[in-house]
Formats: sequence, structure tokens, C-alpha cells
Amino acid sequence: MKVFITGTPAVEITLINAVVDLLSKVKGPISYHAIEPLEKESVQLVVRQFDEDGIKTEKLEFDELINISQLYRLKYNVDKDDVLVILTSIQMIHQFNANSNKNWFSYYRGNNIVIKTIGWERFVDNKMNVAISHQVIENLFQTLLGESFTGFHMESKSCINDFCENEIEITYKLMSCRICNDCLNAAFEKDIKLEILDQIRESLNLLRDKFQIFQSLDEKIQEESANSIIEVTKDLNFLFDGLEVGFPARLKTIYLFFLMNVNENIRTVNLRQSKYQNQILKIHSVVKKGGAEKAMITLLGLDDEDGKMANANLGDVNKDLLKDYRHDIYKLLNLKLSRGKSEYFRIDSVKTEKGWSNVLKIRPEQIKIDSDTLSRIS
Ligand SMILES: [Zn+2]
Repeated sequence: MKVFITGTPAVEITLINAVVDLLSKVKGPISYHAIEPLEKESVQLVVRQFDEDGIKTEKLEFDELINISQLYRLKYNVDKDDVLVILTSIQMIHQFNANSNKNWFSYYRGNNIVIKTIGWERFVDNKMNVAISHQVIENLFQTLLGESFTGFHMESKSCINDFCENEIEITYKLMSCRICNDCLNAAFEKDIKLEILDQIRESLNLLRDKFQIFQSLDEKIQEESANSIIEVTKDLNFLFDGLEVGFPARLKTIYLFFLMNVNENIRTVNLRQSKYQNQILKIHSVVKKGGAEKAMITLLGLDDEDGKMANANLGDVNKDLLKDYRHDIYKLLNLKLSRGKSEYFRIDSVKTEKGWSNVLKIRPEQIKIDSDTLSRIS
């Protein structure tokens, strides 16, 4: 099932792309595709009224919106079975209740959907693209229920099918990102594919997450963490803002190695490069007070005879082991620090051009390694 998303001429392609990108994060039978808005001259052919300078209408009636949809379908060859979504900053009015107070935020007929791009700030602050994405999902679900569906809730139930005549109720609908049991049953009766419903459910879960107000708390934690200090003492204890996190020797070695190579994307296979390999072994021998431990030899894929390296050129780096170590470090951080701070100080895996890399991303000024320790491991 393809969903094409575009806009009336004044809508920015960046907004269209943002909505397509967000919805595309959830995979499934529905795919989303952006198309460029048409020139205003084309759109003017199918709408009735313009303001004086002929640039844009102030209001569009629903049938005109459908005319615009048809125009886009023709111009862009959108298949009749594909869904077309048009974003618009123009106010929508319904000829039957043009005098009612209902402020239309979206509308659909057949598989043509129109969604307003303005006026969301009152409900969702600056998360306009999340609100618009919600409207895509809402109208998509309603399109699938068919035009014969009449089960909209005039009295709000915190369901995607709330009618929201009273605008304030839109907030409740958006924040809950939910489909009630009655509406879900209506979808089952319509025999909507379960994979499609599953994707709709996952999309709503994603959007609910994006709406969450705790995001500002996360930002505060990030801000505060950016001033936190990690200290490695003379005795090789690891203190995060003064709180000791008890790492075993193998994890001390790994964390210290990433502290020494802070903000560097290091691919696991590259640990076999001699500069990294030597550094890891040196740090480890200081941490272990002489002698190498099996953990590092296995990690680096070195041969081991009675704990001594027989051949430094054999084997591959054990990727899973490094992943385990990274995960163990995070778990131990999490035992002592808050989740937000643990995330900040974890060794992350990031996707780079060459593939997945490991990186510890903190400001170098946040790292204090005891000078004696530093001279022993450098
Ligand atoms: Zn419902």
C-alpha cells in the first residue's frame, strides 16, 4: 500500500519530507513517498476563489480539495488504489456546515486525504510534523474503514476517531495516540489486514513517544551531563561526578581505552591495528598489574599459550565480546547513575560510512585521569 504525501503550493517540501521520514521509521506493508507541491498556476485552475493578488485562496471547500487531489493524481500518475495526502495551509470549510464552529484539521474522501499544516501550535507546541503524521495515520485508518463507517465519537473517548467538535479535545486525541476497542473491532469486521493494523499501531506508539513532554527532561539531563566529570584515580577507580562505578578489570580496560580515544569512531575490526592493540594490552597490563588476561586475548583474537601471546597475527576481533563489554559497562553505569546520565556516558555504537563503529562521545574537558595513571598507560 503506497501513500503519497504532497502539499498545496505554499507548503514547504521540507515539511513533507519530515512527515514522510517520521512515518517511514515504522516498517510494514504501508510505504510513504514525498512528492513536490505543484505550481500555484496549476492549482488555481481547479479552485474558485482567490484573494486580490491571486496568490492563494483563504478558504477551500471540500469539493475543491478533491479537485486538487485529482489534479495531483493526474500530474504525478498516482494509481487510483494508492492513497494521496495533501498538506495545506489554507483553511478548509465544509459547505454543509460552513457556519459551525468546527475547525477542520483534516478531511478525507475515498483515498484522498487533506491535512491542515497550521494551527497545531496550540495543541502540540513545536511538534507540528508529529501532529500532521498523526493526522495521516488517523485519516488512513478512516479511509480503510470505508466511507460507510459512521462510528466517530461525538463524545471524546481518547480514540483516533474522536470527532473533536470542541477543539481542546484534539489535545487528548493526539496525546493518547490510541484506537478504542469498538473502532478496532470495526477494523476487524472490515477485514483490514492485520499487518496493516500492526503498522498503524506501531506508528501510533512512535508518535506518542514523540509527543511526550518528558523530552524536555531528557534535554535537561543531557545539558547537565555535559558538565559532568569522569575521574580515573591513581588506584584506577572510576568516579562519575564523585560516584564510584565498580568496573571489573576487563571493563576498566575497555572504558579507559575509549577515554584515551574519546570521540573517535572505532570499528571493531580496527582494534587489530597495532596502535590500538598495543594500547589495549598496555592498559590491561596496568589494570591487571602485569600479565594479560584471557578476556583481552579472546577479544583481540590473539593466540594464547598459558596466558602468553603466541602469535599476534592470528584470528579476528571478537565483535560479540566487545558488544557484551559495552553492554555490561552500560548496565553497571545504570546501577549507580540515572538512566539519562548512563546513556550519556555509555560507549555507543554508531553507523558510519564504513559500517558500525564504537564511540564514547563526551567533551575531553570532562575527563580527568590521574597523572601517574596516565603516564603508566600512555
Ligand atoms: Zn474509537
